[in-house]
Amino acid sequence: MADFDVDLFVIGGGSGGVRAARIAAGYGARVMVAEEYRMGGTCVIRGCVPKKLMVIASHIHHEIEDAAGFGWTIPQATFDWPTLIANKDKEIARLEGIYTANVEKSGARIVKSRAVFEDSHTLRLGSGETVRAKYIMIATGGAPNHGPAIPGIEHVISSDEVFHLPDLPKRIVIQGGGYIALEFACIFAGFGSNVTLTYRGDNILRGFDDDVRAHVRAEMEKEGITILTGCTINRIERVDKRGEEFTTHLSNGSSIASDQVMFAIGRHPNVANLGLEKAGVAINPRNGGIAVDGFSRTSVPNIYAIGDVTHRTNLTPVAIREGHAFADTVFGKRPVEVDHSNIPTAVFCQPEVGTVGLTEAQARAHFSHVDIYKTDFRPIKSTMSGRDTRILMKLVVDGTSDRVVGCHVVGDGAAEIVQVLGIAVKMKATKADFDATMALHPTAAEELVTMRTPTARYVRQAAE
Ligand code: FAD
Ligand code: NDP
Repeated sequence: MADFDVDLFVIGGGSGGVRAARIAAGYGARVMVAEEYRMGGTCVIRGCVPKKLMVIASHIHHEIEDAAGFGWTIPQATFDWPTLIANKDKEIARLEGIYTANVEKSGARIVKSRAVFEDSHTLRLGSGETVRAKYIMIATGGAPNHGPAIPGIEHVISSDEVFHLPDLPKRIVIQGGGYIALEFACIFAGFGSNVTLTYRGDNILRGFDDDVRAHVRAEMEKEGITILTGCTINRIERVDKRGEEFTTHLSNGSSIASDQVMFAIGRHPNVANLGLEKAGVAINPRNGGIAVDGFSRTSVPNIYAIGDVTHRTNLTPVAIREGHAFADTVFGKRPVEVDHSNIPTAVFCQPEVGTVGLTEAQARAHFSHVDIYKTDFRPIKSTMSGRDTRILMKLVVDGTSDRVVGCHVVGDGAAEIVQVLGIAVKMKATKADFDATMALHPTAAEELVTMRTPTARYVRQAAE
Protein backbone atom coordinates (compact mmCIF):
# COMPACT_ATOMS: atom_id res chain seq x y z
CA MET A 1 0.00 0.00 0.00
CA ALA A 2 3.02 2.27 0.49
CA ASP A 3 2.94 3.20 -3.20
CA PHE A 4 -0.49 4.72 -2.84
CA ASP A 5 -1.63 7.94 -1.17
CA VAL A 6 -5.05 6.40 -0.48
CA ASP A 7 -6.68 2.99 -0.64
CA LEU A 8 -9.79 4.36 -2.33
CA PHE A 9 -10.37 7.51 -4.36
CA VAL A 10 -14.05 8.24 -5.04
CA ILE A 11 -14.88 10.62 -7.90
CA GLY A 12 -18.22 12.22 -7.03
CA GLY A 13 -19.86 12.99 -3.69
CA GLY A 14 -23.40 11.97 -4.66
CA SER A 15 -25.66 9.18 -3.40
CA GLY A 16 -23.45 6.31 -4.56
CA GLY A 17 -20.04 7.88 -3.97
CA VAL A 18 -20.85 8.95 -0.42
CA ARG A 19 -22.10 5.48 0.53
CA ALA A 20 -19.07 3.76 -1.02
CA ALA A 21 -16.69 6.16 0.78
CA ARG A 22 -18.33 5.87 4.19
CA ILE A 23 -18.58 2.09 4.19
CA ALA A 24 -15.04 1.64 2.86
CA ALA A 25 -13.70 4.03 5.51
CA GLY A 26 -15.63 2.01 8.10
CA TYR A 27 -13.62 -1.03 7.03
CA GLY A 28 -10.45 0.92 7.77
CA ALA A 29 -9.62 2.05 4.23
CA ARG A 30 -7.90 5.43 3.66
CA VAL A 31 -10.49 7.20 1.50
CA MET A 32 -10.55 10.47 -0.43
CA VAL A 33 -13.71 11.82 -2.12
CA ALA A 34 -13.55 14.51 -4.82
CA GLU A 35 -16.68 16.58 -5.43
CA GLU A 36 -16.63 19.37 -7.99
CA TYR A 37 -19.99 20.95 -7.11
CA ARG A 38 -21.89 20.25 -3.88
CA MET A 39 -21.78 17.25 -1.54
CA GLY A 40 -24.95 15.17 -1.79
CA GLY A 41 -25.01 15.09 -5.59
CA THR A 42 -28.05 15.18 -7.83
CA CYS A 43 -30.52 13.59 -5.42
CA VAL A 44 -29.91 16.00 -2.57
CA ILE A 45 -29.00 19.17 -4.44
CA ARG A 46 -31.12 19.12 -7.62
CA GLY A 47 -33.11 15.92 -7.76
CA CYS A 48 -35.24 13.77 -5.47
CA VAL A 49 -35.17 15.89 -2.33
CA PRO A 50 -35.88 19.42 -3.63
CA LYS A 51 -38.34 17.85 -6.10
CA LYS A 52 -40.24 16.07 -3.31
CA LEU A 53 -40.36 19.29 -1.26
CA MET A 54 -41.92 21.01 -4.27
CA VAL A 55 -44.35 18.12 -4.80
CA ILE A 56 -45.48 18.46 -1.18
CA ALA A 57 -45.80 22.25 -1.56
CA SER A 58 -47.89 21.98 -4.72
CA HIS A 59 -50.11 19.24 -3.25
CA ILE A 60 -51.23 21.59 -0.48
CA HIS A 61 -53.58 23.32 -2.91
CA HIS A 62 -55.62 20.07 -3.03
CA GLU A 63 -55.86 19.99 0.75
CA ILE A 64 -57.07 23.59 0.77
CA GLU A 65 -59.63 22.96 -1.97
CA ASP A 66 -60.83 19.70 -0.40
CA ALA A 67 -61.28 21.28 3.03
CA ALA A 68 -64.64 22.90 2.25
CA GLY A 69 -66.44 19.56 1.89
CA PHE A 70 -65.37 18.70 5.42
CA GLY A 71 -66.74 21.92 6.89
CA TRP A 72 -63.65 24.08 6.87
CA THR A 73 -63.71 27.65 5.68
CA ILE A 74 -60.26 28.70 4.65
CA PRO A 75 -59.58 32.33 3.80
CA GLN A 76 -58.35 32.97 0.26
CA ALA A 77 -55.01 31.15 0.17
CA THR A 78 -52.02 32.75 -1.51
CA PHE A 79 -48.77 31.15 -2.54
CA ASP A 80 -45.35 32.83 -2.57
CA TRP A 81 -42.80 31.17 -4.85
CA PRO A 82 -39.71 33.04 -3.50
CA THR A 83 -40.55 31.85 0.04
CA LEU A 84 -40.77 28.24 -1.12
CA ILE A 85 -37.48 28.49 -3.03
CA ALA A 86 -35.68 30.17 -0.11
CA ASN A 87 -36.93 27.60 2.42
CA LYS A 88 -36.10 24.74 0.07
CA ASP A 89 -32.58 26.12 -0.45
CA LYS A 90 -32.10 26.37 3.32
CA GLU A 91 -33.11 22.75 3.77
CA ILE A 92 -30.84 21.60 0.92
CA ALA A 93 -27.90 23.49 2.45
CA ARG A 94 -28.64 21.77 5.79
CA LEU A 95 -28.63 18.35 4.12
CA GLU A 96 -25.43 19.18 2.25
CA GLY A 97 -23.84 19.93 5.63
CA ILE A 98 -25.05 16.60 7.01
CA TYR A 99 -23.65 14.70 4.02
CA THR A 100 -20.30 16.46 4.43
CA ALA A 101 -20.20 15.81 8.17
CA ASN A 102 -21.13 12.13 7.78
CA VAL A 103 -18.35 11.53 5.27
CA GLU A 104 -15.83 13.31 7.47
CA LYS A 105 -17.02 11.44 10.57
CA SER A 106 -16.41 8.16 8.78
CA GLY A 107 -12.76 9.14 8.43
CA ALA A 108 -12.84 9.83 4.67
CA ARG A 109 -11.37 13.09 3.39
CA ILE A 110 -13.30 15.38 1.03
CA VAL A 111 -11.57 17.48 -1.61
CA LYS A 112 -13.77 20.11 -3.22
CA SER A 113 -12.41 19.71 -6.72
CA ARG A 114 -12.93 18.08 -10.07
CA ALA A 115 -10.85 14.92 -10.46
CA VAL A 116 -9.80 13.29 -13.73
CA PHE A 117 -7.71 10.26 -14.58
CA GLU A 118 -4.02 10.52 -15.42
CA ASP A 119 -3.68 6.73 -15.53
CA SER A 120 -5.37 3.73 -13.96
CA HIS A 121 -4.08 4.57 -10.46
CA THR A 122 -3.60 8.34 -10.65
CA LEU A 123 -6.07 11.21 -10.41
CA ARG A 124 -5.39 14.85 -11.15
CA LEU A 125 -7.22 17.47 -9.11
CA GLY A 126 -8.14 20.98 -10.26
CA SER A 127 -5.11 22.36 -8.41
CA GLY A 128 -2.83 20.21 -10.57
CA GLU A 129 -1.97 18.02 -7.59
CA THR A 130 -2.04 14.27 -8.29
CA VAL A 131 -3.23 11.50 -5.99
CA ARG A 132 -2.30 7.81 -6.33
CA ALA A 133 -5.01 5.36 -5.32
CA LYS A 134 -5.08 1.59 -5.04
CA TYR A 135 -8.77 1.49 -5.99
CA ILE A 136 -10.82 4.13 -7.80
CA MET A 137 -14.58 4.48 -7.75
CA ILE A 138 -16.24 6.45 -10.55
CA ALA A 139 -19.51 7.85 -9.16
CA THR A 140 -19.88 10.93 -11.33
CA GLY A 141 -23.64 10.56 -11.96
CA GLY A 142 -25.41 12.04 -14.96
CA ALA A 143 -26.69 15.29 -16.42
CA PRO A 144 -29.78 16.42 -18.33
CA ASN A 145 -29.89 15.90 -22.09
CA HIS A 146 -30.22 19.25 -23.77
CA GLY A 147 -31.88 17.97 -26.89
CA PRO A 148 -31.30 18.63 -30.56
CA ALA A 149 -29.86 21.95 -31.77
CA ILE A 150 -33.20 23.46 -32.75
CA PRO A 151 -33.56 27.25 -33.13
CA GLY A 152 -34.09 28.81 -29.70
CA ILE A 153 -32.69 25.84 -27.73
CA GLU A 154 -30.74 28.38 -25.62
CA HIS A 155 -34.02 29.50 -24.02
CA VAL A 156 -34.84 26.03 -22.75
CA ILE A 157 -34.37 25.14 -19.09
CA SER A 158 -33.74 21.68 -17.67
CA SER A 159 -34.30 20.20 -14.21
CA ASP A 160 -31.01 21.82 -13.15
CA GLU A 161 -32.44 25.33 -13.58
CA VAL A 162 -36.05 24.66 -12.61
CA PHE A 163 -35.21 24.66 -8.91
CA HIS A 164 -33.99 28.25 -9.06
CA LEU A 165 -36.46 30.14 -11.22
CA PRO A 166 -36.86 33.68 -9.87
CA ASP A 167 -40.63 33.63 -10.44
CA LEU A 168 -43.36 31.04 -10.73
CA PRO A 169 -44.10 30.81 -14.47
CA LYS A 170 -47.75 31.54 -15.18
CA ARG A 171 -47.50 29.36 -18.29
CA ILE A 172 -44.96 26.63 -18.95
CA VAL A 173 -44.39 24.18 -21.80
CA ILE A 174 -42.63 20.95 -20.82
CA GLN A 175 -41.29 18.49 -23.37
CA GLY A 176 -40.97 14.82 -22.34
CA GLY A 177 -43.20 12.02 -21.14
CA GLY A 178 -41.07 10.47 -18.40
CA TYR A 179 -40.45 10.93 -14.68
CA ILE A 180 -39.21 14.52 -14.61
CA ALA A 181 -41.63 15.93 -17.19
CA LEU A 182 -44.66 14.48 -15.38
CA GLU A 183 -43.47 15.43 -11.93
CA PHE A 184 -42.84 19.06 -12.88
CA ALA A 185 -45.99 19.33 -14.97
CA CYS A 186 -47.96 18.40 -11.84
CA ILE A 187 -45.86 20.59 -9.54
CA PHE A 188 -46.52 23.67 -11.69
CA ALA A 189 -50.18 22.80 -12.22
CA GLY A 190 -50.54 22.53 -8.44
CA PHE A 191 -49.24 26.07 -8.07
CA GLY A 192 -51.79 27.28 -10.60
CA SER A 193 -49.55 27.56 -13.67
CA ASN A 194 -51.02 26.81 -17.07
CA VAL A 195 -49.11 23.68 -18.15
CA THR A 196 -48.72 22.09 -21.59
CA LEU A 197 -46.86 18.79 -21.83
CA THR A 198 -45.60 17.72 -25.25
CA TYR A 199 -44.59 14.13 -25.87
CA ARG A 200 -43.28 12.50 -29.05
CA GLY A 201 -44.96 9.09 -28.63
CA ASP A 202 -48.59 8.05 -28.44
CA ASN A 203 -48.82 8.05 -24.65
CA ILE A 204 -46.74 9.24 -21.71
CA LEU A 205 -44.69 6.98 -19.37
CA ARG A 206 -43.44 4.55 -21.96
CA GLY A 207 -42.27 1.38 -20.22
CA PHE A 208 -44.92 1.57 -17.49
CA ASP A 209 -48.04 -0.62 -17.47
CA ASP A 210 -50.49 0.50 -20.17
CA ASP A 211 -53.37 0.86 -17.69
CA VAL A 212 -51.16 3.06 -15.51
CA ARG A 213 -50.27 5.21 -18.50
CA ALA A 214 -53.88 5.69 -19.53
CA HIS A 215 -55.02 6.36 -15.97
CA VAL A 216 -52.27 8.90 -15.22
CA ARG A 217 -52.93 10.75 -18.43
CA ALA A 218 -56.66 11.00 -17.73
CA GLU A 219 -56.02 12.17 -14.16
CA MET A 220 -53.46 14.78 -15.25
CA GLU A 221 -55.88 16.09 -17.83
CA LYS A 222 -58.54 16.39 -15.12
CA GLU A 223 -56.01 18.58 -13.25
CA GLY A 224 -56.10 20.93 -16.22
CA ILE A 225 -52.79 19.91 -17.79
CA THR A 226 -52.85 19.91 -21.60
CA ILE A 227 -51.09 16.80 -22.93
CA LEU A 228 -50.12 16.89 -26.59
CA THR A 229 -48.85 13.56 -27.89
CA GLY A 230 -47.30 12.60 -31.21
CA CYS A 231 -45.38 15.87 -31.55
CA THR A 232 -42.07 17.49 -30.71
CA ILE A 233 -40.88 21.04 -30.27
CA ASN A 234 -38.95 22.24 -33.31
CA ARG A 235 -38.44 25.99 -32.62
CA ILE A 236 -38.63 28.38 -29.72
CA GLU A 237 -38.93 32.08 -30.30
CA ARG A 238 -38.33 34.74 -27.66
CA VAL A 239 -41.22 37.12 -28.11
CA ASP A 240 -40.44 39.75 -25.50
CA LYS A 241 -36.76 40.64 -25.47
CA ARG A 242 -36.93 42.16 -21.97
CA GLY A 243 -39.09 39.63 -20.23
CA GLU A 244 -39.53 35.90 -20.42
CA GLU A 245 -42.12 35.21 -23.05
CA PHE A 246 -41.74 32.55 -25.67
CA THR A 247 -43.61 31.07 -28.57
CA THR A 248 -42.97 27.35 -28.90
CA HIS A 249 -43.53 25.86 -32.34
CA LEU A 250 -44.49 22.19 -32.59
CA SER A 251 -43.98 19.61 -35.30
CA ASN A 252 -47.77 19.42 -35.78
CA GLY A 253 -47.81 23.04 -36.94
CA SER A 254 -49.32 24.52 -33.77
CA SER A 255 -47.65 26.97 -31.41
CA ILE A 256 -47.95 27.77 -27.70
CA ALA A 257 -47.20 30.97 -25.78
CA SER A 258 -45.48 30.54 -22.40
CA ASP A 259 -43.15 32.13 -19.87
CA GLN A 260 -40.81 29.13 -19.64
CA VAL A 261 -39.97 26.13 -21.80
CA MET A 262 -38.49 23.09 -20.07
CA PHE A 263 -37.06 19.93 -21.59
CA ALA A 264 -37.05 16.74 -19.52
CA ILE A 265 -35.91 14.31 -22.17
CA GLY A 266 -33.63 11.96 -20.31
CA ARG A 267 -30.17 12.17 -18.80
CA HIS A 268 -26.74 11.06 -19.97
CA PRO A 269 -23.92 9.55 -17.89
CA ASN A 270 -21.10 11.95 -16.91
CA VAL A 271 -18.26 10.26 -18.77
CA ALA A 272 -16.93 13.14 -20.87
CA ASN A 273 -13.49 14.65 -20.17
CA LEU A 274 -12.79 12.28 -17.29
CA GLY A 275 -9.66 10.87 -18.91
CA LEU A 276 -11.23 7.41 -19.11
CA GLU A 277 -9.12 6.58 -22.15
CA LYS A 278 -5.91 7.25 -20.17
CA ALA A 279 -7.04 4.74 -17.57
CA GLY A 280 -8.34 2.25 -20.15
CA VAL A 281 -11.92 2.26 -18.81
CA ALA A 282 -14.40 0.99 -21.41
CA ILE A 283 -17.81 2.46 -22.21
CA ASN A 284 -20.85 0.21 -22.61
CA PRO A 285 -21.78 0.68 -26.29
CA ARG A 286 -25.44 -0.15 -25.54
CA ASN A 287 -26.11 2.76 -23.21
CA GLY A 288 -23.11 5.11 -23.23
CA GLY A 289 -22.43 4.49 -19.53
CA ILE A 290 -19.35 2.91 -18.03
CA ALA A 291 -19.33 -0.83 -18.68
CA VAL A 292 -19.36 -2.85 -15.45
CA ASP A 293 -19.89 -6.42 -14.29
CA GLY A 294 -22.26 -7.58 -11.55
CA PHE A 295 -19.84 -6.29 -8.91
CA SER A 296 -19.63 -2.83 -10.57
CA ARG A 297 -16.08 -3.54 -11.69
CA THR A 298 -15.02 -1.81 -14.93
CA SER A 299 -12.76 -3.15 -17.67
CA VAL A 300 -9.81 -2.14 -15.42
CA PRO A 301 -9.59 -4.44 -12.37
CA ASN A 302 -8.87 -1.73 -9.74
CA ILE A 303 -11.52 0.70 -11.08
CA TYR A 304 -15.21 0.43 -10.24
CA ALA A 305 -18.24 2.49 -11.29
CA ILE A 306 -21.66 2.84 -9.68
CA GLY A 307 -24.89 4.79 -9.99
CA ASP A 308 -26.07 6.90 -12.90
CA VAL A 309 -22.67 6.91 -14.62
CA THR A 310 -23.24 3.24 -15.41
CA HIS A 311 -26.74 4.03 -16.78
CA ARG A 312 -28.24 0.83 -15.40
CA THR A 313 -31.19 1.85 -13.20
CA ASN A 314 -30.88 5.55 -12.48
CA LEU A 315 -32.39 5.77 -9.02
CA THR A 316 -30.88 6.91 -5.74
CA PRO A 317 -31.43 3.73 -3.70
CA VAL A 318 -29.81 1.73 -6.51
CA ALA A 319 -26.69 3.95 -6.52
CA ILE A 320 -26.51 3.64 -2.74
CA ARG A 321 -26.88 -0.14 -2.82
CA GLU A 322 -24.22 -0.45 -5.53
CA GLY A 323 -21.82 1.76 -3.51
CA HIS A 324 -22.38 -0.31 -0.38
CA ALA A 325 -21.96 -3.60 -2.22
CA PHE A 326 -18.68 -2.38 -3.73
CA ALA A 327 -17.27 -1.47 -0.31
CA ASP A 328 -18.37 -4.82 1.17
CA THR A 329 -16.83 -6.67 -1.76
CA VAL A 330 -13.49 -4.86 -1.94
CA PHE A 331 -12.82 -3.74 1.63
CA GLY A 332 -15.13 -5.96 3.67
CA LYS A 333 -13.95 -9.08 1.85
CA ARG A 334 -17.59 -10.13 1.49
CA PRO A 335 -18.52 -10.30 -2.21
CA VAL A 336 -21.95 -8.75 -2.77
CA GLU A 337 -23.60 -8.59 -6.17
CA VAL A 338 -26.54 -6.19 -6.45
CA ASP A 339 -29.83 -7.74 -7.53
CA HIS A 340 -31.43 -5.31 -9.99
CA SER A 341 -34.70 -7.21 -10.27
CA ASN A 342 -38.01 -6.00 -8.84
CA ILE A 343 -36.86 -2.48 -7.99
CA PRO A 344 -39.85 -0.49 -6.73
CA THR A 345 -40.19 2.93 -8.29
CA ALA A 346 -42.54 5.90 -8.09
CA VAL A 347 -43.38 8.85 -10.26
CA PHE A 348 -44.34 11.72 -7.97
CA CYS A 349 -46.91 13.14 -10.32
CA GLN A 350 -50.45 13.94 -9.24
CA PRO A 351 -51.84 11.37 -8.52
CA GLU A 352 -48.71 9.45 -7.66
CA VAL A 353 -47.60 6.25 -9.47
CA GLY A 354 -46.01 3.39 -7.55
CA THR A 355 -44.92 0.25 -9.34
CA VAL A 356 -42.87 -2.89 -8.75
CA GLY A 357 -42.29 -5.89 -10.97
CA LEU A 358 -43.64 -6.65 -14.40
CA THR A 359 -46.20 -4.79 -16.47
CA GLU A 360 -49.07 -6.79 -17.90
CA ALA A 361 -47.42 -6.74 -21.34
CA GLN A 362 -44.09 -7.98 -19.95
CA ALA A 363 -45.79 -10.76 -18.00
CA ARG A 364 -47.80 -11.87 -21.02
CA ALA A 365 -44.59 -12.03 -23.07
CA HIS A 366 -42.89 -14.06 -20.35
CA PHE A 367 -45.49 -16.41 -18.88
CA SER A 368 -47.94 -18.75 -20.60
CA HIS A 369 -50.76 -18.01 -18.14
CA VAL A 370 -51.30 -14.54 -16.68
CA ASP A 371 -54.14 -13.40 -14.42
CA ILE A 372 -54.90 -9.71 -13.99
CA TYR A 373 -56.66 -8.27 -10.96
CA LYS A 374 -57.62 -4.66 -11.48
CA THR A 375 -59.85 -2.16 -9.79
CA ASP A 376 -60.35 1.58 -9.97
CA PHE A 377 -62.42 3.46 -7.47
CA ARG A 378 -63.12 6.80 -5.88
CA PRO A 379 -61.04 7.41 -2.76
CA ILE A 380 -63.11 7.89 0.40
CA LYS A 381 -61.89 11.48 0.73
CA SER A 382 -63.37 12.41 -2.64
CA THR A 383 -66.84 11.33 -1.59
CA MET A 384 -67.01 14.45 0.61
CA SER A 385 -64.51 16.76 -1.06
CA GLY A 386 -66.19 16.23 -4.41
CA ARG A 387 -62.83 15.96 -6.17
CA ASP A 388 -63.09 14.07 -9.44
CA THR A 389 -60.30 11.52 -9.05
CA ARG A 390 -59.95 7.75 -9.07
CA ILE A 391 -57.37 5.31 -7.71
CA LEU A 392 -56.06 2.47 -9.88
CA MET A 393 -54.76 -0.78 -8.40
CA LYS A 394 -53.54 -3.67 -10.46
CA LEU A 395 -51.91 -7.00 -9.69
CA VAL A 396 -50.24 -9.10 -12.36
CA VAL A 397 -50.09 -12.78 -11.43
CA ASP A 398 -48.23 -15.69 -13.03
CA GLY A 399 -51.18 -18.05 -13.29
CA THR A 400 -48.98 -21.15 -13.24
CA SER A 401 -47.06 -20.50 -10.01
CA ASP A 402 -49.67 -18.10 -8.53
CA ARG A 403 -46.82 -15.61 -7.87
CA VAL A 404 -47.65 -11.91 -7.89
CA VAL A 405 -45.13 -10.64 -10.42
CA GLY A 406 -46.30 -7.04 -10.77
CA CYS A 407 -48.09 -4.45 -8.62
CA HIS A 408 -49.18 -1.07 -9.94
CA VAL A 409 -50.89 1.68 -7.98
CA VAL A 410 -51.95 5.16 -9.08
CA GLY A 411 -53.33 7.38 -6.34
CA ASP A 412 -52.40 9.27 -3.20
CA GLY A 413 -49.83 7.33 -1.20
CA ALA A 414 -48.96 5.00 -4.09
CA ALA A 415 -45.22 5.33 -3.47
CA GLU A 416 -45.58 4.47 0.22
CA ILE A 417 -47.85 1.50 -0.58
CA VAL A 418 -45.52 0.11 -3.22
CA GLN A 419 -42.40 0.43 -1.07
CA VAL A 420 -43.99 -2.14 1.28
CA LEU A 421 -45.53 -4.23 -1.51
CA GLY A 422 -41.99 -4.50 -2.87
CA ILE A 423 -41.11 -6.76 0.07
CA ALA A 424 -43.91 -9.18 -0.82
CA VAL A 425 -42.90 -9.26 -4.48
CA LYS A 426 -39.23 -9.76 -3.56
CA MET A 427 -40.23 -12.61 -1.24
CA LYS A 428 -42.11 -14.21 -4.16
CA ALA A 429 -45.50 -13.87 -2.47
CA THR A 430 -48.36 -15.66 -4.21
CA LYS A 431 -51.85 -14.36 -4.84
CA ALA A 432 -52.94 -16.83 -2.15
CA ASP A 433 -50.60 -15.03 0.31
CA PHE A 434 -52.24 -11.72 -0.63
CA ASP A 435 -55.68 -13.29 -0.12
CA ALA A 436 -54.65 -14.70 3.26
CA THR A 437 -53.58 -11.25 4.47
CA MET A 438 -56.28 -9.56 6.52
CA ALA A 439 -57.52 -6.28 5.11
CA LEU A 440 -56.82 -3.08 7.05
CA HIS A 441 -59.99 -1.04 6.94
CA PRO A 442 -60.74 1.64 5.87
CA THR A 443 -57.77 2.14 3.58
CA ALA A 444 -57.28 2.28 -0.16
CA ALA A 445 -54.57 -0.39 0.01
CA GLU A 446 -57.01 -2.99 1.42
CA GLU A 447 -58.22 -3.45 -2.16
CA LEU A 448 -54.88 -5.15 -2.87
CA VAL A 449 -55.80 -8.05 -0.58
CA THR A 450 -59.50 -8.23 -1.39
CA MET A 451 -59.53 -8.57 -5.19
CA ARG A 452 -60.85 -12.14 -5.55
CA THR A 453 -61.73 -12.61 -9.19
CA PRO A 454 -59.39 -11.99 -12.11
CA THR A 455 -60.57 -9.18 -14.36
CA ALA A 456 -58.68 -10.79 -17.24
CA ARG A 457 -56.99 -14.13 -17.85
CA TYR A 458 -54.54 -14.84 -20.66
CA VAL A 459 -53.57 -18.41 -21.47
CA ARG A 460 -51.15 -18.87 -24.33
CA GLN A 461 -52.09 -21.67 -26.68
CA ALA A 462 -49.38 -24.22 -27.48
CA ALA A 463 -48.95 -22.94 -31.07
CA GLU A 464 -48.45 -19.27 -30.01
P1 FAD B 1 -25.03 11.88 -8.47
O1 FAD B 1 -25.93 11.96 -7.30
O2 FAD B 1 -25.39 12.62 -9.69
O3 FAD B 1 -23.59 12.34 -7.96
C1 FAD B 1 -22.52 12.54 -8.85
C2 FAD B 1 -21.63 13.61 -8.27
O4 FAD B 1 -20.38 13.60 -8.96
C3 FAD B 1 -22.19 15.02 -8.47
O5 FAD B 1 -22.25 15.67 -7.22
C4 FAD B 1 -21.19 15.71 -9.41
O6 FAD B 1 -21.02 17.08 -9.13
C5 FAD B 1 -19.91 14.93 -9.11
N1 FAD B 1 -18.92 14.89 -10.20
C6 FAD B 1 -19.14 14.59 -11.50
N2 FAD B 1 -17.96 14.55 -12.17
C7 FAD B 1 -17.00 14.83 -11.26
C8 FAD B 1 -15.57 14.91 -11.34
N3 FAD B 1 -14.90 14.66 -12.48
N4 FAD B 1 -14.89 15.24 -10.22
C9 FAD B 1 -15.53 15.48 -9.05
N5 FAD B 1 -16.88 15.40 -8.92
C10 FAD B 1 -17.59 15.06 -10.01
N6 FAD B 1 -34.16 9.05 -7.93
C11 FAD B 1 -34.97 8.44 -7.04
O7 FAD B 1 -34.68 7.32 -6.61
N7 FAD B 1 -36.13 9.05 -6.61
C12 FAD B 1 -36.49 10.29 -7.04
O8 FAD B 1 -37.52 10.80 -6.62
C13 FAD B 1 -35.64 10.94 -7.96
N8 FAD B 1 -35.94 12.18 -8.39
C14 FAD B 1 -35.10 12.81 -9.25
C15 FAD B 1 -35.44 14.08 -9.68
C16 FAD B 1 -34.65 14.75 -10.58
C17 FAD B 1 -35.04 16.14 -11.04
C18 FAD B 1 -33.45 14.14 -11.04
C19 FAD B 1 -32.55 14.86 -11.99
C20 FAD B 1 -33.09 12.87 -10.61
C21 FAD B 1 -33.92 12.19 -9.71
N9 FAD B 1 -33.63 10.91 -9.27
C22 FAD B 1 -34.46 10.28 -8.40
C23 FAD B 1 -32.41 10.21 -9.73
C24 FAD B 1 -31.28 10.32 -8.68
O9 FAD B 1 -31.05 11.67 -8.38
C25 FAD B 1 -30.00 9.69 -9.21
O10 FAD B 1 -30.27 8.37 -9.63
C26 FAD B 1 -28.89 9.65 -8.15
O11 FAD B 1 -28.60 10.93 -7.68
C27 FAD B 1 -27.64 9.01 -8.72
O12 FAD B 1 -26.61 9.04 -7.78
P2 FAD B 1 -25.07 8.98 -8.25
O13 FAD B 1 -24.27 8.87 -7.00
O14 FAD B 1 -24.90 7.98 -9.29
O15 FAD B 1 -24.79 10.38 -8.94
P1 NDP C 1 -37.03 9.57 -18.69
O1 NDP C 1 -36.17 8.58 -19.36
O2 NDP C 1 -37.90 9.14 -17.58
O3 NDP C 1 -37.98 10.25 -19.78
C1 NDP C 1 -37.43 10.89 -20.88
C2 NDP C 1 -38.57 11.32 -21.78
O4 NDP C 1 -38.08 12.16 -22.81
C3 NDP C 1 -39.27 10.15 -22.44
O5 NDP C 1 -40.64 10.43 -22.48
C4 NDP C 1 -38.65 10.15 -23.84
O6 NDP C 1 -39.51 9.64 -24.81
C5 NDP C 1 -38.47 11.63 -24.07
N1 NDP C 1 -37.38 11.93 -25.01
C6 NDP C 1 -36.15 11.39 -25.05
N2 NDP C 1 -35.42 11.95 -26.03
C7 NDP C 1 -36.22 12.86 -26.64
C8 NDP C 1 -36.03 13.76 -27.72
N3 NDP C 1 -34.87 13.84 -28.35
N4 NDP C 1 -37.07 14.55 -28.07
C9 NDP C 1 -38.24 14.48 -27.41
N5 NDP C 1 -38.48 13.66 -26.37
C10 NDP C 1 -37.47 12.85 -25.99
O7 NDP C 1 -36.04 10.73 -18.25
P2 NDP C 1 -36.21 11.99 -17.30
O8 NDP C 1 -35.37 13.04 -17.90
O9 NDP C 1 -37.63 12.26 -17.00
O10 NDP C 1 -35.51 11.46 -15.97
C11 NDP C 1 -34.21 10.89 -16.02
C12 NDP C 1 -34.09 9.74 -15.07
O11 NDP C 1 -33.96 10.21 -13.74
C13 NDP C 1 -35.29 8.80 -15.01
O12 NDP C 1 -35.28 7.86 -16.05
C14 NDP C 1 -35.14 8.18 -13.66
O13 NDP C 1 -34.22 7.12 -13.74
C15 NDP C 1 -34.56 9.31 -12.83
N6 NDP C 1 -35.64 10.00 -12.11
C16 NDP C 1 -36.34 9.31 -11.17
C17 NDP C 1 -37.38 9.90 -10.50
C18 NDP C 1 -38.14 9.12 -9.49
O14 NDP C 1 -37.66 8.08 -9.05
N7 NDP C 1 -39.32 9.57 -9.08
C19 NDP C 1 -37.77 11.28 -10.75
C20 NDP C 1 -36.96 11.93 -11.75
C21 NDP C 1 -35.94 11.30 -12.39
P3 NDP C 1 -39.62 8.06 -25.14
O15 NDP C 1 -40.37 7.47 -24.00
O16 NDP C 1 -40.38 8.05 -26.40
O17 NDP C 1 -38.24 7.55 -25.26
